[in-house]
Amino acid sequence: MRYAVRCWECGREVEDPFLDACPACQGALTVDMDLSSLEGTSLRDLRSRPLGVWRYGHFLPVQSEPVTLQEGGTPLYDCGRLADELGVREVRVKFEGANPTGSFKDRGMTVGVTRALELGCRVVGCASTGNTSASLAAYAAKAGLGCVVVLPSGKVALGKLAQAMFFGAKVVTVDGNFDDALRVVRELAHAGDLYMLNSVNPFRPEGQKTLAFEVLDQLDLRLPDRIIYPVGNAANIWAAYKALKEWQSLGWIDELPMLTGVQAGGSAPLVMAFNRGSDNFVPVEGPETIATAIRIGNPASGRKALRAVYDTGGCMTAVSDREIIDAQLLLGRREGIGAEPASAAAVAGLRRLLDEGKVSRRERVVCVCTGHVLKDPDAVMAQCGRPIATEATAEAVRKAISQGPVPSL
Ligand SMILES: *Cc1c(COP(=O)(O)O)cnc(C)c1O
Ligand SMILES: [Zn+2]
Repeated sequence: MRYAVRCWECGREVEDPFLDACPACQGALTVDMDLSSLEGTSLRDLRSRPLGVWRYGHFLPVQSEPVTLQEGGTPLYDCGRLADELGVREVRVKFEGANPTGSFKDRGMTVGVTRALELGCRVVGCASTGNTSASLAAYAAKAGLGCVVVLPSGKVALGKLAQAMFFGAKVVTVDGNFDDALRVVRELAHAGDLYMLNSVNPFRPEGQKTLAFEVLDQLDLRLPDRIIYPVGNAANIWAAYKALKEWQSLGWIDELPMLTGVQAGGSAPLVMAFNRGSDNFVPVEGPETIATAIRIGNPASGRKALRAVYDTGGCMTAVSDREIIDAQLLLGRREGIGAEPASAAAVAGLRRLLDEGKVSRRERVVCVCTGHVLKDPDAVMAQCGRPIATEATAEAVRKAISQGPVPSL
């Protein structure tokens, strides 16, 4: 596929593959795909390949054999019990926990690590709140590349840290938050120590477009009214917008679903900008939330995400940690879906927007649940208590279950 890397702000083409921002205006970079060879084709022409990232290879800026762990192809669950509980016509959950390393990050990494090989890089690296590092470590292992990950100390969920260590990355923690870790990794990348695969690398969101492609594909192009994303660095919701625009440009879809973003109250710079009707956001110092995957004060793709929301007639909202935990339990106990806290923010946001009358109860909604519950076992244990310990007799167990706390929401 032919493409050019451009500055998203000023449109200038950027040829140096190792830049992470526009040399003229410091704007964010984006990949501009030339889709002319796809004119006159239809979605049906792609369906001989299995559902997954590489079904949509024609939309991805890759020229070589991809480094793949068979990412994507995740379920789109029809959640009738959740819809009843929330009081809305239809809710579906796109469950990204079903990816190889348990989050949607794998969609971007298969493209990003393939790009690293095309460029002849030997070491890849990232700053991460956890899932990016887990994913990069796995794809680097598959590709035979060295991997360095820089994490904010003490704030990474145990499952994610375990994955990065397990897949053999060099794991470094720094005192500071994600935004500090990103600054350090950018500096290392500029000095040539590593090839940076954070989502400011424009090849990552290209892979993440496939999340939205799959949703439309799984619905046979019967568009939902709205797709709701949890928002951290904001690349994923931006990628969805880019995906929708590409299919619209080919005439595969006419309209766009309303893209809606949810942030955690303690780290909600984009929600504040949206509430002012502004294209610009003010970074939040010292972001806080239990949803560590979206604990980001200075979203790298923030301006792009605001465009995505405004242009599709969507909206943004912030939710509290309590609302996030309640939504996480609701997903688990009404639908059997195990989502980590950040993922549940999409559902918490839907509930809030319904209650506030900002989303109509007649809508058909897709919530993107971005990562797996096992990523953050500590968050679960803090909510669900301990098992009941007793002797190994039927009588003792019968007594325990009659006296123990009644499982409830
Ligand atoms: C990375 C991540 C997010 C945030 O995605 P952005 O593209 O940074 O907005 C949300 N949830 C989970 C589980 C993640 O890993
Ligand atoms: Zn520029």
